[in-house]
Amino acid sequence: MSQPRQEIADVIVVGAGVVGLSCAWALLCEGASVTLIDRDFEGDRTSHGNAGGIAVSENTPIAVHGMFTQAAKWLMDPLGPLALDWKHVPSALPWFMAFRRAAEPARFDAISRALSRLNNRVYEDILPMFDDIGATAMLYRRGALTVYETDAAFAADQPEWALKRELGVRWHTLNQDEVRAAEPSLAPVFRHGVFLDDWSHIGDPRRLVTLLRERVMALGARFVTGVARALEPADGVLLDDGSRVFGRRIVVAAGAWSATLAKSVGDRVLLDSERGYNATLPRHGIALSREVIFAERKFVATPLDIGLRIGGAAEFAGLAAPPNYRRSEALLALGRRFLPDIDETDAVNWMGHRPSTPDSLPVIGVSPRAPSVVYAFGHGHLGLTQSATTAALVADVLGERMPRVPLEPYSIARFQH
Ligand SMILES: Cc1cc2nc3c(=O)[nH]c(=O)nc-3n(C[C@H](O)[C@H](O)[C@H](O)COP(=O)(O)OP(=O)(O)OC[C@H]3O[C@@H](n4cnc5c(N)ncnc54)[C@H](O)[C@@H]3O)c2cc1C
Repeated sequence: MSQPRQEIADVIVVGAGVVGLSCAWALLCEGASVTLIDRDFEGDRTSHGNAGGIAVSENTPIAVHGMFTQAAKWLMDPLGPLALDWKHVPSALPWFMAFRRAAEPARFDAISRALSRLNNRVYEDILPMFDDIGATAMLYRRGALTVYETDAAFAADQPEWALKRELGVRWHTLNQDEVRAAEPSLAPVFRHGVFLDDWSHIGDPRRLVTLLRERVMALGARFVTGVARALEPADGVLLDDGSRVFGRRIVVAAGAWSATLAKSVGDRVLLDSERGYNATLPRHGIALSREVIFAERKFVATPLDIGLRIGGAAEFAGLAAPPNYRRSEALLALGRRFLPDIDETDAVNWMGHRPSTPDSLPVIGVSPRAPSVVYAFGHGHLGLTQSATTAALVADVLGERMPRVPLEPYSIARFQH
């Protein structure tokens, strides 16, 4: 896994999570020579442990009006869906302020439209990729179900559901009996359901990354194991050990770690790790047909091939703090309550770093300061969902074609002032 120093790749891709590997795959398919850099190609990362949702219906930002009152209540609950390490607050303050602005009505609407432009073409891009890498059999197109315990929460979400529909999301409501009939394993406490026709899930996120990596290798990519310290736009990438990887263009797909690389060419970005947790139950013993989203409690349960994954939570504590697996335990407690027959034997806890921007939009496109650098990071809750579409856009940019989606809303330039 090393590259002779004199070789010059057409494209260097920094980061071999689902986004970087998808970019490498798309570029290799177009005949580019690609060098991938990752500090640990097979190590655990965000793309390995996510909930597996192809969550195309998630086309509104995370910041919603009124969330801040709610957030204050969540923070009081030590094991609620939101946690904050107060030491992290000073450095995260600009991010939180921008997050708040994203909930303003005009901005919320514009962000939702920009998210929809990506999400509405996800299957067009992801199906050929899954086909090529041999992942089609692990894509379960069974929809997803959002469930509500209370009439009040269901009513409060109606404007958002209406906007989603206007932007192309197909959904219909289920009453209490229909929720029971659709998912008999759920506790009988849900008064409303919203069935999402186009959401799907994959059987195993880690396996998907492995299939992608193997295919990218078979297509001829070179793999360099090392830590990228800085971008050198005229030459390539400087590694931590002082060596250089040479390439004409550089794609930054380093997930939650991308901001320091962007900074090395003078680009500012608001990017934080929105740490998420889950517990995977290999012997869960229940029948769940599709991913279920628990609206009030902000967690999901996905029936993966490798077990039932119960996950969610948002913890702001930076990239370095150790995981607090009590959050996984808290999610498991919710699972126990709402899926009463689950068997927890051999449950595995996990934490990952969602690469989150405050406006829930990814960063895709050319650096305004270094034209050889292309960004592909910041996908937050939707990196798996938007992986192949991001890759197609990166290939458009590097292939000097008109991008299939106008890229202005995703430009890093939005953070420059
Ligand atoms: C609990 C949870 C549930 C989720 N559920 C879903 C879901 O259902 N659907 C969905 O679409 N998304 C989901 N996500 C989000 C999704 O997992 C992420 O958006 C996605 O994995 C990000 O992929 P990535 O390739 O950008 O980053 P990563 O997977 O983090 O990969 C980045 C790679 O870059 C490497 N790297 C970083 N810095 C350097 C450096 N300096 N030098 C060398 N290598 C470097 C890292 O080693 C890593 O391999 C979830 C996330 C979490 C935490």
